[in-house]
Amino acid sequence: MRLPVNYNRLETPYYFYDIELLNETIEAALSACNNNNFRIHYAMKANANSQILETINRYNIGIDCVSGNELKKALECGFNSSDIVFAGVGKSDKEIQLAINSGIHAINVESEEELEVVNTISGEMNRVTDIALRVNPDIDAGTHKHITTGTDHNKFGISIPDIIRINEESDKLKNINIIGLHFHIGSQINGMDTFIKLCSTINSVQNDLLNRGIVFNHLNVGGGLGIDYDNPDKTPIVNFNDYFDVFSSHLKYPHKQIVHFELGRSITGQCGSLITKVLYTKNTSRKRFAIVDAGMTDLIRPALYNAYHKIENLTSSAIKLRYDVVGPICESSDCFGKDAIIPETKRGDILCIRSVGAYGQVMASQYNLREPAMAYYSDMIETINHK
Ligand SMILES: *Cc1c(COP(=O)(O)O)cnc(C)c1O
Repeated sequence: MRLPVNYNRLETPYYFYDIELLNETIEAALSACNNNNFRIHYAMKANANSQILETINRYNIGIDCVSGNELKKALECGFNSSDIVFAGVGKSDKEIQLAINSGIHAINVESEEELEVVNTISGEMNRVTDIALRVNPDIDAGTHKHITTGTDHNKFGISIPDIIRINEESDKLKNINIIGLHFHIGSQINGMDTFIKLCSTINSVQNDLLNRGIVFNHLNVGGGLGIDYDNPDKTPIVNFNDYFDVFSSHLKYPHKQIVHFELGRSITGQCGSLITKVLYTKNTSRKRFAIVDAGMTDLIRPALYNAYHKIENLTSSAIKLRYDVVGPICESSDCFGKDAIIPETKRGDILCIRSVGAYGQVMASQYNLREPAMAYYSDMIETINHK
């Protein structure tokens, strides 16, 4: 694992990003995506730090945004507007105007009412706007309920029967042009069978539309590819070959259709670590606690989704004991690891919380008026290989 050479002297807590690993990950994704119809977009909500976006932008891949400010930031970081798509169930009028003005590739529309609003705003601006319809395919991604998005119980997208009817009636909407379909069923999906199921649903929707003479030149299959939180050193880069092979073998698409993949977690997840110092240890009759200086304000995934992150003690390699590793925030859910087995820990030890490059720093808050954590990048400071 790469770390700053002075990792134990920098003020904690801080994020550290291994930019070499990020580069290797993007290169692996691009080389696995070797199909002329396929394109990768980065889902920037996973990590929107400028340094991360600038690294990604060197590879000429597109961007998936879910807010107006993300859209602005993507443009500021130099992404081409024609490579940007904008999804989200609750776009404000201002965000829709921004997207239309920026001339992005497509607004991914998530309801019939939004479709009418985009058509109206577009008309007021004397424009015809390219949009894609987000389909809710009613597929359970089999992941944590808070990161499942593609079932009838979720707020995202439009049902398949409505998609078909909207397309048949779309001539009425003069200021929009439906250029494609968008699917995204959830996140941290590890079983390829879920993506195979997604392919067969997409095939059947496209086939129903084709039978009515409707063909799009654009298809977006979403993201969701999971990473190995248990073994970040064994699997620093996910098996992109398996992922893209599923779509190459199971997805049926018209000859000229461009297929977009919107990967977030699988691009940036493993390149980030959160480095934190042990402030105190204490024991109760049932538990041994390590109280650290990072909190749920720096990394909320364990509190929000019960997410697992590997925790390592960088200072000590002595006998291993069982700890609850907790933060300083006044919430019992402010816990990074329950019963984590780590080397015996004392005040001043430096711990490393792994695999936090996606949905980590970007979800930080200032609850308890906490200072935001600093971030360091391996291409800007001297680093060492630890262990
Ligand atoms: C969050 C999101 C993604 C990325 O999901 P990952 O699990 O990080 O790959 C892709 N598309 C949309 C629409 C999203 O909201």
